[in-house]
Amino acid sequence: MAPVQLSAAEARVLGCLIEKSLTTPDAYPLSLNSLRLACNQTTNRDPVVSYDEATVDAALDGLRAHQLAARGKTYGERAIKHRHLVDDGLNVDAAERALLCVLMLRGPQTSGELKTRAERLHSFAALADVEDTLDRLATREFAVRLDRRPGQKESRWLELLSVPGAGSEAAPAPDRAPAPVDSAHGEHGEHGAPAGHAGLLGAAAGPQTLEITNPATGALLREVAVDDETEIEAKLRRARAAQARWAALPYERRAAALLAWRDQLGADIEECARITAEETGKTIGAARNEIRAVQDRITWFVAHAPAVLAPRTATQSDAIEERITYEPRGVVAHISAWNYPYFVGLNSIVPALACGNAVLYKPSELATLTGLQLVDLAHRSGVPVDVLQTIVGSGPTGAALVSSGVDLVCFTGSVATGRRVAVSAAEHLIPVQLELGGKDAAYVCDDVDVDAAAEAVAEGAFYHGGQSCCAVERVYVHQAIWERFVTSFVAAATHWAPGDPLDAASANGVLARAQQPELLQEQVDDAIAKGARVLLGGMCEPGAASYPPTVLVDVDHSMTVMRDESFGPVIGLMRVRDDDEALALVDDSSYGLTAAIFSRDRERAEAFLARCDTGTVYWNASDRTSVTVPWSGRRASGLGVSMGEAGIASFVRPKAWHLRPSS
Ligand code: NDP
Repeated sequence: MAPVQLSAAEARVLGCLIEKSLTTPDAYPLSLNSLRLACNQTTNRDPVVSYDEATVDAALDGLRAHQLAARGKTYGERAIKHRHLVDDGLNVDAAERALLCVLMLRGPQTSGELKTRAERLHSFAALADVEDTLDRLATREFAVRLDRRPGQKESRWLELLSVPGAGSEAAPAPDRAPAPVDSAHGEHGEHGAPAGHAGLLGAAAGPQTLEITNPATGALLREVAVDDETEIEAKLRRARAAQARWAALPYERRAAALLAWRDQLGADIEECARITAEETGKTIGAARNEIRAVQDRITWFVAHAPAVLAPRTATQSDAIEERITYEPRGVVAHISAWNYPYFVGLNSIVPALACGNAVLYKPSELATLTGLQLVDLAHRSGVPVDVLQTIVGSGPTGAALVSSGVDLVCFTGSVATGRRVAVSAAEHLIPVQLELGGKDAAYVCDDVDVDAAAEAVAEGAFYHGGQSCCAVERVYVHQAIWERFVTSFVAAATHWAPGDPLDAASANGVLARAQQPELLQEQVDDAIAKGARVLLGGMCEPGAASYPPTVLVDVDHSMTVMRDESFGPVIGLMRVRDDDEALALVDDSSYGLTAAIFSRDRERAEAFLARCDTGTVYWNASDRTSVTVPWSGRRASGLGVSMGEAGIASFVRPKAWHLRPSS
């Protein structure tokens, strides 16, 4: 293991100090501001970051603690300047220093790339000199050669000062204590480039490739290699070996890596949001909201996992002690949906890692670049590369992962796929956690402020184009306010038109799945054929990437639009006589994820919600999740629990101890 473990920000700052000492010696040592600008440079940097001064300052503190940087004043100048001390601190020569610098600034690279890019810092006579230097760095565990990937002629090299090596026990220096408990969350629970070298460490290595396209433009974003069964087996083997070491670390070390990951997400929020908007069609604003909210979730998970992991004494007497301890499950497979890739992914991955598990994470093929980016940032934050690995591919890859021998499967996706996953997991006798679809209902009572309720319900229905498991999908309206509500709801729905995902002013982006407009049209046509009337939308151009906000009335439960998940901006409104009729209709569903009531009367609302057969209920709210409370679906909406303490507990197994002192 490398003699020091740096955070991603420390490595960036150190790389910049080395670079500037050689390329702009007249302006060296650097002031804090110059150093910040050097870190955030958009050339010769991968990833591009936007650190503020506090981040750079904290990184300098860390480097000074490692005796790799120092500060001082130049005679006649007022500003404090910063310089590196790597020659002594790491005992490296000029050639080694140059290569480490470029590796820290630009991520994994081949020896050929390094020769060219290090030219400004040190003159290598031949490629062989570069390779000799890399071998010396590898001997000292400062760098490692990565496996060659299909389609690549050369293997790439990775520095290990900031990225713990394969199987390494390292986590970042425990210089970041877990942040204080905070239960903040996004209001819209689920709401909330090429990806540089994103996820190269965890990227796939099979012979097949997956094309990632932009749903708004159809443009090819990137082609990525798919993991085949052999590669999944190899990743599982490495994960199993690394898991034991990860679990053996003091909790503070795991927590520090997870909190560094949280901070890295914040530092890279623009890059992450852009990747997600480009590949999923989500608006860039919604992507940013989701990332900010997921940072709070990480904080909460890290703060609450210790209570779940703490051993408990059940019985204590002279004759017997009965105790319970909690052990990680081992290697967890997380198979993810694309619609909220940060929430869905990190709701499983973070508590799983906090509890000492390793994770094999298969992002949806529609959010692959986001998944790779997430994992890359985790590695840069100190999560060892074998402890969290990406499994890249589509459905068959997910199926291979389920039957690969993992210890727990956490699946988020459609009911149809969830059933297949459950059957396969049952054959292997492994537990499965399923977060599946919904046909979530809202009931609007006769006592509401009609316009306000219409706006709130429309937001719950149309935010993110309705592509949320807990989006409002059907609305029951008390007959006393029916006409007024319908008029107001149609007006509110018009505000949720699709637009350019990368335009911050767009209310919505486009639909992620190319087939979705056609499926929505089928539901609308079925409803019309059975007597429904379209008040808004109801039609799209063939081949369109989006579907307009659509409002239907005169609907009933014989229509697919009121029975099957739409996962798009199509809503049926139905008039009801009273609360009892509304309740019967709300529960008349194969799904059981959420139900909402809008009313001024809390007592009436709570009485209604207590009778709803769903895992989550809302009063004057909808389409939200919170990390502080359990999230679960009933009937076809899922099995098991995520989030809340109960969600963390999903990632441990209890062990019962019966201890009888010998007499
Ligand atoms: P899918 O069921 O199509 O896919 C989910 C994941 O499963 C993807 O990673 C997919 O890969 C993978 N997969 C596909 N086939 C298999 C298989 N045979 N074995 C194992 N894995 C497989 O769902 P979507 O991604 O379209 O997500 C939308 C659905 O997710 C909606 O129904 C929504 O309600 C639900 N959802 C539920 C949530 C909840 O909390 N209850 C939260 C978010 C979404 P690939 O994409 O590469 O094909």
